[in-house]
Amino acid sequence: MTKPRGLDDHEYRKRVKALRDLRIPRCWICGRAIDYTLPPRHTMGFTADHVEPRSLGGDLYGELRPAHRACNSRRGNRVGRRPKTIAFTDPGVL
Ligand SMILES: [Zn+2]
Repeated sequence: MTKPRGLDDHEYRKRVKALRDLRIPRCWICGRAIDYTLPPRHTMGFTADHVEPRSLGGDLYGELRPAHRACNSRRGNRVGRRPKTIAFTDPGVL
């Protein structure tokens, strides 16, 4: 069994860095400014959010957008207005 590609994947990290380097000024979830000088673990610091969550079948190399750490974790597995229950659906059966 091979280990699935994770967030420590080299190519993924490169993509996150590229997104960070763009210095997009706003969080795509709440629309407020992102302070790129904050430490990476800060709740209002930069994170790369998957437009299509990986837990819903989104690819590790799928589209990324900048988000606050707090917003990213609040959004969790929800996409837009989809009902919360979809997070408990196995993407393999959709
Ligand atoms: Zn935000």
